[in-house]
Amino acid sequence: MALFGSRPRIAIIGAGIIGLSAAYELAVRRGARVSIFDTRPPGRGASWAAAGMLAPAFEAADEPGQHPRLFELCLRGAEIWPDFAKDLSARTGVDIGLSLAACLAAALDDSEAVRLSRIASRLAAAHIGHSALTRAEILRREPALSPDVISGLELPSDLRVNNRQVVHALISALRAHPKVKFVTGPAPLRSVGGRFCLEGHDVVLAAAGWETSIIKVEEQGQLFSLVNWETALDDIDCYGGQMLSVADGAGAPKRVVRSGHLYLVPRDGRVVIGATVEPDRVMDEPEEEAIEALRLEAVRLCPGLADAPVLERWAGVRPGTPDQAPFIGETTTPGLFVAAGHFRNGILLAPITARIIADLILGKDAGELAGAFSVRRAYAATA
Ligand SMILES: Cc1cc2nc3c(=O)[nH]c(=O)nc-3n(C[C@H](O)[C@H](O)[C@H](O)COP(=O)(O)OP(=O)(O)OC[C@H]3O[C@@H](n4cnc5c(N)ncnc54)[C@H](O)[C@@H]3O)c2cc1C
Repeated sequence: MALFGSRPRIAIIGAGIIGLSAAYELAVRRGARVSIFDTRPPGRGASWAAAGMLAPAFEAADEPGQHPRLFELCLRGAEIWPDFAKDLSARTGVDIGLSLAACLAAALDDSEAVRLSRIASRLAAAHIGHSALTRAEILRREPALSPDVISGLELPSDLRVNNRQVVHALISALRAHPKVKFVTGPAPLRSVGGRFCLEGHDVVLAAAGWETSIIKVEEQGQLFSLVNWETALDDIDCYGGQMLSVADGAGAPKRVVRSGHLYLVPRDGRVVIGATVEPDRVMDEPEEEAIEALRLEAVRLCPGLADAPVLERWAGVRPGTPDQAPFIGETTTPGLFVAAGHFRNGILLAPITARIIADLILGKDAGELAGAFSVRRAYAATA
């Protein structure tokens, strides 16, 4: 049974990959009417800054405090990406650069080798294909790696896309759709007599990345933050991230390679190198020192990059929650939904988030896993 009538009018606040994918699922694939509000040009937030890895295996490491089912959600997210990509490319003609080549994880020291073994054990327990690689095996698969690597993993579950092209394709599909309207500026949200509303709409989806809790609502002539209508949104924090790209060349890796927090992603004739994770930092511009430190780490992993010219440097802000997993679902305010807090997996989780949100808004069964990411969940205890 649909909660808001069979044809709800839906407002989405935030045109990042999460809001755009939800709009795509709701309007293009399911025929709903959608307005998308953004105070800035669409698709220029974290979704533009990301590396485009679709990497569930790395959530298998099960860090302390992490949502116990994040790995499962990430696996489901990766599973549906190829269909989502096919559909989006077929409708728009945009090549979104989905690569099915297995990613590699490399250990340069014992502690990373131990972490990779932990990931391998969890993947084995979940029957997820992977191969443990000796030093010789990983160097054979990726000769650009340093001879100092000691072991590795091959991860067929981990894919990549060109996130900037994905966002471009979503915007093209949505702009061409008769049931979708883009609005530049804030959504005129109001609270009247304690009732939350947006004129002309039955449902509001808050999907403004790290700024979700501070979306403004007018009440009796004053502006208040959305967190007053769902206090759990206060838990969405910001995590700055800096990256660079260098020119591709003879010494560049051909596949995505990760080692610790460092990753190298071949994309469009360049190698994207990421990324810093900087809690409580909102940054628009990269900082020279951090970028150079990343570049040197990349050279340690892949010495052939030493002389590769730097082509671009940038920064973005990830939205994070205390258990590193997104909030997906209806809030305690009727008609107000949220999809935010995707932290380092927003590109990976965009299609699955869109599917869950569309099911919930349209009154369909979103499945048991969806309930685990409700805004009102208890967080995992930290060790
Ligand atoms: C350096 C870096 C590398 C990353 N790499 C990866 C990766 O490889 N793989 C992966 O899966 N994820 C990655 N991520 C994470 C991923 O980018 C994010 O989780 C994801 O982009 C979040 O999407 P979003 O739509 O929630 O936020 P955003 O893309 O930030 O979009 C939010 C939108 O809301 C708008 N907005 C804000 N306030 C308002 C308001 N009041 N009214 C209207 N609009 C508003 C903003 O203008 C923006 O357009 C990375 C992130 C960073 C920073």
